[in-house]
Amino acid sequence: MNHKHKYVLAIDQGTTSSRAILFNHQGNIITLAQKDFHQYFPKPGWVEHDPNEIWYTQSSVIKEVMAKADVTDDHIACIGIANQRETTIIWDRETGFPVYNAIVWQDRRTSDYCEELKEKGYATSIQEKTGLVIDAYFSATKIRWILDNVKGVRERAERGELCFGTVDCWLLWKLTRGEKFITDITNASRTMLFNIHSQQWDQELLSLFSIPPSLLPEVVGCSDIYCETSATLFKKGIPISGIAGDQQAALFGQLCVEEGMMKTTYGTGCFMILNTGKKPILSQNHLLTTIAWKLGDETTYALEGSVFVGGAAIQWLRDGIGLIPNAAISEQMAKSIPDNGGVYFVPALTGLGAPYWDQYARGAIVGITRGTTAAHLTRAALEGISYQVYDVLRAMENDMNTQSKEIRVDGGAIANNFLMQFQADICRCPVVRPKVLETTALGAAYLAGLAVGYWKDIDELKDQWSLDKVFKPKLDEAVALRQLDEWHKAVGRAQHWSSNE
Ligand code: ADP
Repeated sequence: MNHKHKYVLAIDQGTTSSRAILFNHQGNIITLAQKDFHQYFPKPGWVEHDPNEIWYTQSSVIKEVMAKADVTDDHIACIGIANQRETTIIWDRETGFPVYNAIVWQDRRTSDYCEELKEKGYATSIQEKTGLVIDAYFSATKIRWILDNVKGVRERAERGELCFGTVDCWLLWKLTRGEKFITDITNASRTMLFNIHSQQWDQELLSLFSIPPSLLPEVVGCSDIYCETSATLFKKGIPISGIAGDQQAALFGQLCVEEGMMKTTYGTGCFMILNTGKKPILSQNHLLTTIAWKLGDETTYALEGSVFVGGAAIQWLRDGIGLIPNAAISEQMAKSIPDNGGVYFVPALTGLGAPYWDQYARGAIVGITRGTTAAHLTRAALEGISYQVYDVLRAMENDMNTQSKEIRVDGGAIANNFLMQFQADICRCPVVRPKVLETTALGAAYLAGLAVGYWKDIDELKDQWSLDKVFKPKLDEAVALRQLDEWHKAVGRAQHWSSNE
């Protein structure tokens, strides 16, 4: 069958659901299937997944998406994987049984140990090697926790009987029935064990965290024919040829392939990532330095900042306090009033992420008067999402010493035109909304398709990117600046709220 008539299968393994999408040669979605899986919260601050359920839901959506499109293995040109990052799985090399649940990126059980590491003065050397801020978010301390707390696991790891992997590695291992034990470089760069300069697992960090090197997978680039599927899900071997962590995949899917291009995802949280080209930029403003992708021998780096509560602020207005019946109505409500009436909502419901990194911050709504209405609170929540993104953008601009030209956007909340317009108003740069919104899966498909020659090169992909709408700044600049001042005053009220100091 002619390559162009085939499809690329993208696996998008996320935090709450496993998805599979078939893309055609034009980069359009043919079919999509999605299955949620259980979230386990064994103690406050702990979040776990069952690795077997991740695999089961993932394999079942792959079958479903192919059945829906009525395609056979012969129609699939290749497979690309995008995945929730940092989530940590350890399993038995022989039997494939996980020794413990997956510890999810959101899990905070190793926070105290991370504080200890900071107190002992490891922050600078860890940032220099890995580009990361010491935090429970990343895999290293989660691996150490499993080795130290699950009976017999350290001994088994030292005997070389176990494998550690992030979710990409686990899926690949399952897709090849244990033949391939590899992870891609973007996922490796989120473990806090990987030196992003030498591009090797870092021996000093492995010693610091007491992690036996035999536990770790081989690290590979993002677009290469790694292997073929074995005969479990598919009857014939299909090349697996693209892998990236979800945010990096979305950056690629948005075709932010030139230095200086950035995208922001507006989902539960907001994830902003900026292509910084061939050189890693170590942030002076509390952002993360990470690997965007490696194509052939060429590595592209990125700066990244995450806002913990983005669309979740709207979810909270709906489900937490019942102020709005659905998320979509927030747009009409915000537009029904001329301004925020002096009300500011700092959505620090789970602390503040970049660039504040304040786990003791808590949500604050300030400036309330007798005239404040539900519309003001709703508008303040949407504005609060935009201001947080602005703060990350400003940190990026300061690190790069440049001004942004545009922000490409994706994620569920970009349906909100008020939010998009306000973002442009505050950031003073155009906000660009593409037509294809499944950018994470599309990025994985692109990486896979490039490796097998399904697409010729990145230039061919650039022609596929199509625009839905550009939001240009309209608000008077002086008004925007005054509002930003007030926002920062409000942030000051929310910071350190729950600490005893
Ligand atoms: P995730 O992938 O993190 O689950 P999604 O990309 O599906 O998130 O986006 C869902 C989030 O977007 C929710 O937090 C929801 O409150 C928010 N959201 C969805 N639609 C709108 C809207 N029209 N306006 C504002 N927020 C919205």
